[in-house]
Amino acid sequence: MRYIEIYVKSALSKSGLENTDYSLNPYRGCEHQCVYCYAPYVLHIPLQEWRNVVYVKRNLPTVMDRELKRKKGFITVGSVTDAYQPAERKYEITRKSLEVLLKHNARISILTKSSLILRDRDIISKFREAHVGVTLTTLDDAFRRRIEPNSSSVEERLQVLEEFKNKAIRYIFVGPIFPEITLPHLREIVKMGEKLEVDYMIFDRFRWKRDMHLPPWLQKYLRGADYAEIKKEVLKIARESSIPIYFDW
Ligand code: SF4
Repeated sequence: MRYIEIYVKSALSKSGLENTDYSLNPYRGCEHQCVYCYAPYVLHIPLQEWRNVVYVKRNLPTVMDRELKRKKGFITVGSVTDAYQPAERKYEITRKSLEVLLKHNARISILTKSSLILRDRDIISKFREAHVGVTLTTLDDAFRRRIEPNSSSVEERLQVLEEFKNKAIRYIFVGPIFPEITLPHLREIVKMGEKLEVDYMIFDRFRWKRDMHLPPWLQKYLRGADYAEIKKEVLKIARESSIPIYFDW
């Protein structure tokens, strides 16, 4: 993995995400190397570069500190990268950014596949509104290793939710749904959410992007995917639960 330190002119970008005003991405590139990642296609960065070179935005907290005087609203930390990928252990750009966000009394949301977020419990728990989510595409950790190789295990992610109890608004993000991988675990994932008393769950479908490369072994799990039917299935299971459920499609 190659790290390149860069200096940015702007930090917060206007977000197209629902319920979010701005996005903050401490890194460009992502070491988690999820095989279904579509970020490089959205950002027009060659796939190999996205997976193997991480640009570290060294001055991000300072630049954001200036911007937050006029940019107000809800901020998503890590919308097109994982803010807690391994580089964060060394560089702490996310941690330093959180300190600035806290100083400005911001409301934030962080979705991650890494238990490194536990390091920052002390800061995150001080926000007036902080949402902490983990992704669960499958509960089968051997499969998780195949599709999200450098991320934390399923067990570690569940531990994140456990340890943020009473410290943040907690949610599970189930996506992208690969029918044959995710559906057999759906009921169990919802039950897990109930057991951990998470505040809500979000479900998302898989989306093809132009020129996207997806390994053939993974493509086979998408064959014949009918997301309208999948939505009905999720709703059926959700009715048995008390957790609020949202869909991104
Ligand atoms: S964690 Fe997110 S940004 Fe990183 S590789 Fe996986 S899908 Fe892409």
